[in-house]
Amino acid sequence: MRKRVLVTGGAGFIGSHLCERLLSNGHEVIMLDNYFTGSKENIVHLMDNPYFEMVRHDITQPFFIEVDEIYNLACPASPIHYQYNPIKTVKTSVMGAVNMLGLAKRIKAKVLQASTSEVYGDPEVHPQKENYWGNVNPIGKRACYDEGKRAAETLFMNYYHQNNVRIKIMRIFNTYGPRMHPNDGRVVSNFIVQALRNEDITLFGDGSQTRSFQYIDDLVEAFIRLMDTGDDFTGPVNIGNPGEFTIKELAEKIIEMTGTRSKIHYKPLPNDDPMKRKPDISLAKDKLNWEPEVVLENGLKKTIEYFDELLKNSKYEDTYYRR
Ligand code: NAD
Ligand code: UDP
Repeated sequence: MRKRVLVTGGAGFIGSHLCERLLSNGHEVIMLDNYFTGSKENIVHLMDNPYFEMVRHDITQPFFIEVDEIYNLACPASPIHYQYNPIKTVKTSVMGAVNMLGLAKRIKAKVLQASTSEVYGDPEVHPQKENYWGNVNPIGKRACYDEGKRAAETLFMNYYHQNNVRIKIMRIFNTYGPRMHPNDGRVVSNFIVQALRNEDITLFGDGSQTRSFQYIDDLVEAFIRLMDTGDDFTGPVNIGNPGEFTIKELAEKIIEMTGTRSKIHYKPLPNDDPMKRKPDISLAKDKLNWEPEVVLENGLKKTIEYFDELLKNSKYEDTYYRR
């Protein structure tokens, strides 16, 4: 059955892949974005599809439409972008959640929240399971994002219990792939762009902090499966690749795979940078019958190819450095 689906933040890295997948599954997609960190370049290839509509809108303002499902992804996701205007980041998460939940309640749609492993903060439990409450500094530099996303989860659960809204909460761990913003400071895109330009690889701290990197295709599959679960399953559910790497290992891998002349350049570790992160995905395996399939080398290969093409494109500077 063709469903009508709203994707907020659909012009961003993850949202654009999700729109693509929903369209190829035969659904009608309305993509809402204010283009703060997203770009029309990410969705230009979808514009000829008559079942794809674009709406320029800021999710902090109410929005009215008739849809069957809502994927709520609108929120800057990289530290430099979400710290650029921290008050706006909190508003986007919290007011955006209120607006999307209010909409879902009125039109009886299912609504899925793109939450984050950042709700665990700098975790004292490893790997992280959904029942861990986290270790977040509420007044630190990351708080606008972490606490905004935590408050959004609270709102989702409140609308579920109080108003029977059909909700799903997904806690996404570090995800990478084509269409990441080349200049948003996230580690995979940063290292690849630096390597392709033979510039210094900026390694923060001593590089012993860990992350678990998930390729975009695995995440998109999990979105579809989570939305399709029965109404009694709300999550939160961790979605990530449990393969854990130190950031130094990641730098070395990218140096090797690109054959760059770049050297590692050590820089201070930002405040509140989590020292380790790795999802326990047993709940996702059980409830969604899902686990990631793309190993780091294969995902990096595709991502390196994408950035290699992008850097050669004459429109590149114009698209990403004009703002
Ligand atoms: P992104 O920055 O590429 O995409 C976010 C999109 O939201 C952009 O298109 C941006 O323009 C839009 N947006 C921001 N504020 C908005 C507002 N007020 N109104 C309307 N649109 C707005 O980031 P992404 O990596 O694609 O992340 C998408 C979602 O997934 C975010 O909610 C993020 O918190 C979550 N997430 C991402 C990761 C990851 O590793 N990429 C990890 C955990 C959670
Ligand atoms: N990082 C780094 N060099 C960079 C960008 C990031 O060493 O140029 C480190 C960062 O300090 C963190 C890890 O890589 O420990 C992941 O950073 P990212 O911003 O991608 O994601 P997050 O910290 O939100 O997981």
